[in-house]
Order: sequence, then structure tokens, then C-alpha cells
Amino acid sequence: MQLPPEAYFKKHKMKIILLGPQAGGKGTQAKLISEKNNIPHISTGDIFRKNIKEGTELGKLVSSYLNKGILVPDKVTNKLVEARLKEGDCRNGFILDGYPRNIEQAEFLDSITKIDFAIDVNIPDKEVIFRLEGRKTCTNKKCSRIYNINTSPSKEEGKCDKCGADLYQRDDDKPGAIKKRLEIYHNETSPLIFYYKKKGILKRINGMQPIEKVFEDILSAIK
Ligand SMILES: [Zn+2]
Repeated sequence: MQLPPEAYFKKHKMKIILLGPQAGGKGTQAKLISEKNNIPHISTGDIFRKNIKEGTELGKLVSSYLNKGILVPDKVTNKLVEARLKEGDCRNGFILDGYPRNIEQAEFLDSITKIDFAIDVNIPDKEVIFRLEGRKTCTNKKCSRIYNINTSPSKEEGKCDKCGADLYQRDDDKPGAIKKRLEIYHNETSPLIFYYKKKGILKRINGMQPIEKVFEDILSAIK
């Protein structure tokens, strides 16, 4: 695989958003892009955890919502993302994973910075379902290792390789729950796809290819 030289990325600022359903390989690609371009991989989950751990005011607010099982309001999430993007490691760009989730967040993001590319790593719903419904989790809470009977099964069926405990299917990974999550995903993301398409910065990537090929396509799309 022929990749652009390191120097190429050094002179290019890259502010990238990654869109795509769960199990579509978005996290893996974010990590690869982050390493290649030497820009931080930023997810709202990580920002939340860091602020909660450090006991910041916003962190306390976030954990009060999460403890009640309420979605963290856009206003709070926006503030946290803004603070993160002001940190020194973002000066050459960043890759945002899981943000923005809706138009309000996207408009806020546009008001504080200029995004270069929105990359949609796309896989069909039936593939998302296939990948997620095969997931089996170790019943041992201290282990909680995740297997996939379709893609990365345990050596002995139904038993954890690491600790030998039984494996089970989490409620989240049952077909009904997966369908529900996909529905929410499409409702949230379709307007975003349209939004970035209108701005002319949307890049659609076929996620149904080997990891290296998806990565190669992303690199050519953001040249
Ligand atoms: Zn285990």
C-alpha cells in the first residue's frame, strides 16, 4: 500500500469528523488516521471520562446526568468539546469521533472552528446487525471480555478463553435493541450527512472492505 509521506501531513491541517454506525470500524479508522496524521483522536466519551475523573465542574454536571440515565445536554457537551479543541495538541488538527451527533452540535462546531472533512464510513444495516448480534460477553464481571461468534469466536464455544467463565449475549446486543439503536442512529445522522454534503466536505467511504483498504480510501479522500 502506497501512503503519502509523513511530510505531507505535517504541512496540512486536518480537522476531521468521522460519521458511521456502530461496529462499522469507525474507531479503528479514527486511530489509524490519528497516528498517521499525528492529530488527536477525540471522542465525547473520553472527554466525559477525563472530566469526571478530574472532578471538574463540568465533569460533575456530566456525571449527574449520566447517573440519572439522561443524555448529556448539547450545551454541556459543546462546552466540553470546545475546551478540548483549544488544547495544544489540536493545533494541527483533530479527528472527532461521536461528535457532532445532531445539527445543533454541528452548527456549534462550525461557530468555533472550520471542519475540513466529514468522513462517513458506511456499512449496510444488515451488516451492523450481523456484526453486533454475534457478540458474546464474559459473565465474569472482572473479565468482561467480548467475543464474536461471527468474527472472533472463543476457542471453546460459550466459554471465555481468558478466565473460563460462561459467555452470554448482553441485552444491548439482542436484535431488537440493535434495531432500535440503528433507528436512532439514522434519525440523528441522516440530517448530518445532508448538512456536510451541502457544505461540500462529505466523503463517503465503503466500510465493507478490509481495514487497510478502507484506510487507503480515507487517505485518498482527504488529500
Ligand atoms: Zn472471561
